[in-house]
Amino acid sequence: MLIDSHCHLEDWVKANQIEKVLAEACEQDVQKFVAVGTQLADWQIYASLASHHKCIQYCVGLHPLNIRDDFEVQLEQLPTFFPNAIAIGEIGLDFHQLPSHKSEQITYAKHQIVVFEKQLRLAQKYNMPVVIHCRDAFEVVCEVLRYSCFDFHSVLFHCFTGTPQEAEYLLTAGAFLSYAGVVTFKNAQAIQNTLLATPLDRILVETDCPYLAPVPYRGKINTPALLPYTAKHIAALKQIDFQTFCEATVQNTQVFFRTHW
Ligand SMILES: [Zn+2]
Repeated sequence: MLIDSHCHLEDWVKANQIEKVLAEACEQDVQKFVAVGTQLADWQIYASLASHHKCIQYCVGLHPLNIRDDFEVQLEQLPTFFPNAIAIGEIGLDFHQLPSHKSEQITYAKHQIVVFEKQLRLAQKYNMPVVIHCRDAFEVVCEVLRYSCFDFHSVLFHCFTGTPQEAEYLLTAGAFLSYAGVVTFKNAQAIQNTLLATPLDRILVETDCPYLAPVPYRGKINTPALLPYTAKHIAALKQIDFQTFCEATVQNTQVFFRTHW
């Protein structure tokens, strides 16, 4: 069995295709799913979805690219999803496409940092683990986590694509790393080195669907059913028996999210 530790299912819920998507995943032995909300509208969808499907758990967080003027209103709603939601996420920083003007860049970054920090405080207050989205912002994300005195054992870097050095820093601090279909890409040599440096008891696997479909479906719409491509690729790379690898990632997912479902 595999658990898709990070997926976005709301499009299929809206299109009334969720049963089909889940059934197709189960056929590939992907039997459990952590749905990740990135704004209030998704949190509501997932709360309802999880209440009807035992195989689904969900996270609630305000994604750095979904911060709008109403962010305070959304953050006020966040705790109403506890304790049913199993983590706060995905939250973090995304500096991939900064505004062109220097002064706007600073405002933009500061805004993301404020919202990130607020959610870390909520996670501490309610004793929740966090799922981190980090793009072109590794140093600052770590700085904010350290400044917040956040316990790295409760930190999961999702779709991790960092260097072996960055992985080592996080792993030494106690964090978990989740890998997506990116590891199967031809140009992913650097990430593969990072994977080799990640011990088996800290790895989670995810699709991040509908994005980042693994090879041989790169560029297509990703679904949880494609997770075995990523898992098989990692197991082969690490020279671990596939079943052993699957069992380890299931256990790591349960340990990190503090849930046995
Ligand atoms: Zn995501």
